[in-house]
Amino acid sequence: MSARRDFDVLIAGAGMVGAGLAALLSSAEATRGLRIALVDPSPALAPLPTEPLDVRVSALSRTGERVLRQSGAWPLLQARHPCAYQRMVIWDSGAAVGGRDTLVFDAAEVGEPNLGHIVENRAVAAALVERAIVAGVTLLRGSVSALALTADVATVTVGERALAVGLVVAADGADSPLRHLAGLGGEPTAYPQEAVVAPLSPEQPHRGTAHQRFLPQGPLALLPLSDGGVSLVWSTTPADAARLAALDDSAFAAEVTRASDGVLGALTPVGRRVRFPLRRFNAAGYAATRLALVGDAAHTVHPLAGQGVNQGFLDAVALATELGAALAHGGDPGDPQPLTRYARARRAENALMGAALDGIYRLFTSQRPLLMQGRQLGLGLANRAGPLKRLLVERALG
Ligand SMILES: Cc1cc2nc3c(=O)[nH]c(=O)nc-3n(C[C@H](O)[C@H](O)[C@H](O)COP(=O)(O)OP(=O)(O)OC[C@H]3O[C@@H](n4cnc5c(N)ncnc54)[C@H](O)[C@@H]3O)c2cc1C
Repeated sequence: MSARRDFDVLIAGAGMVGAGLAALLSSAEATRGLRIALVDPSPALAPLPTEPLDVRVSALSRTGERVLRQSGAWPLLQARHPCAYQRMVIWDSGAAVGGRDTLVFDAAEVGEPNLGHIVENRAVAAALVERAIVAGVTLLRGSVSALALTADVATVTVGERALAVGLVVAADGADSPLRHLAGLGGEPTAYPQEAVVAPLSPEQPHRGTAHQRFLPQGPLALLPLSDGGVSLVWSTTPADAARLAALDDSAFAAEVTRASDGVLGALTPVGRRVRFPLRRFNAAGYAATRLALVGDAAHTVHPLAGQGVNQGFLDAVALATELGAALAHGGDPGDPQPLTRYARARRAENALMGAALDGIYRLFTSQRPLLMQGRQLGLGLANRAGPLKRLLVERALG
């Protein structure tokens, strides 16, 4: 690789996906020799063990877990007690929870110890950044503000510095400044929904179970946390989300307890509420000359199945694998062939996931009587159809 370059690979964005890619590349044998920079204006700091859990958490599938384990970051995350969950209970607001039309996924049914873990986003990112630094990655605090991409080199401006690099990876989130700078378009489609996220304390123990109830305005999920609490992710109309966010604690507690059908008894708010706009997006292309997109910079989906960051980790694994194979054959990290192969495979896969989740969103928010009846029956049927259910669990496990 050229000595005239400042870095072989520069990753813009040290969120979970960018940090995951940096940790993977610096720990895998095939890519360990690369000189890597990870750039972010505000990289996540590892929370102190005594700090309460942050409001932003994710359901991490096996892929995410593998990225953390392979890069040595999994032990670091243990200080924040990822909450393994063994069951997932899904039902429609027209049916009673636990009845014939409830879909229950159980890890034991597929011979797995759990279905995944609920983790704090900042703790995951911080653990991956720490591992990447230990493995030799250079962390630069700053924002990428300009890009010049040529067949020979990519020039990336970070603050006052212009860095010559072999490959730029944009892991800079859903609004990705780098995607715009590289001219990789695609218009996001806004869902007429926002998610209200809040930590709650349930009256009854969650017993390692994630719950999701489909309400007419959107799904309400209660994700189990290691401190005994649950994380609410309630997708609803923007007006309703604004109303819910503005309620006082006791009115909010009453609403969320009622909307969850009392599945965990009375729910008590124990922290701040945050609103997120929801949108669907898949970039028109994932690669340009000496540049690749990963994570939310490339795609966003509805959070109803907790797949967003897991898709991002799959991007990171796929890109790291392509780069490793290219280097093994004497190639350069910015060569077009591996980038094109990565972009084709991941864009197609993420398009499928986006379409599937969009279909579920439409089915469960439809007010057409036939569809309303059909989806209730469908959940019950899926619950009783062994092979289909197994397939769904395996897909969700990643
Ligand atoms: C309500 C909600 C619930 C969700 N639940 C789940 C779930 O349960 N499971 C799941 O898999 N996914 C879930 N997701 C999706 C998940 O949160 C995202 O997919 C994930 O956070 C994306 O990570 P990322 O690293 O790609 O981007 P981000 O986390 O957005 O990180 C981008 C980083 O880039 C940095 N950056 C920005 N601009 C620049 C620049 N110019 N130069 C350098 N750095 C820059 C930022 O500082 C930031 O650190 C959920 C999403 C929402 C909204």
